[in-house]
Amino acid sequence: MQVGDVKIEGISDGTIPVPPTPLFNKSDQDWLQHTQFLDADGLLPIEMGGFLVRSGERLILVDTGIGPHADPERCGRFMRNLAAQGVEPSDITDVVLTHLHFDHLGWATDGERRLFDKATYRCHESDWDFFMGADPFDDSLAVSLMGGWSSSKLLPPILDRLETWSEDQTILPGIDVRSAPGHTPGSTVIVISSGSERAMLLGDVVHCPAELLSDDWEMIGDVDKELARRSREALARELEGSAIPVAATHFPGLQFGRLLTAQGRRRWTFG
Ligand SMILES: [Zn+2]
Repeated sequence: MQVGDVKIEGISDGTIPVPPTPLFNKSDQDWLQHTQFLDADGLLPIEMGGFLVRSGERLILVDTGIGPHADPERCGRFMRNLAAQGVEPSDITDVVLTHLHFDHLGWATDGERRLFDKATYRCHESDWDFFMGADPFDDSLAVSLMGGWSSSKLLPPILDRLETWSEDQTILPGIDVRSAPGHTPGSTVIVISSGSERAMLLGDVVHCPAELLSDDWEMIGDVDKELARRSREALARELEGSAIPVAATHFPGLQFGRLLTAQGRRRWTFG
């Protein structure tokens, strides 16, 4: 994806296909309207990974995959796929984390050292406080799924290279952060701009494009479901008919797409 002078590439860590029904407040019947997002077995392919943003001299990662701990059969390819783009870990200048769930931190550190040793790590202050503050979030899913590699175990090595933001702002040339709380307190949409062109990376404000098509979705992992719903709905209203290309960390193939409208109905198209 080219946005003016800025280039954005999806870097996959792997894909985990899951039954869609337990993840959202939708029945199997509801999913019949959204089969375009399901695979041949009726499963929702949840991509793990992040995005490499080349902006001037900077090589920026937005999220870093789930890492090698969760499901080594399916995931753990992020560094190899980064190398295939000609990028070494020490080339990365900035790691921007859309939020601090473990499945976005997989290659941020190995628990003892930063894996992008030259990079400045950046996240929303509210998420740092939520996951690393005096009363840290107890992530039981990480304990069961990741062999204990929760956010609070992965994050400490970044502390001496951490810069947080607490309000919407430009954090790097062409990279703006915009708060979209609910999934986590500091969940953020990354707006990438160059000249008159724009694209957005949606983090986990949306996990599957189907969540943008109507206004009544809930996701099991949302920390504050009502706030997450309001953030998602505001985003969908902004995007519909705008032709702004958007992608999210779990979209299939890390593909960009657009939210279009025709005869009063929203429609999603990849590409
Ligand atoms: Zn996620």
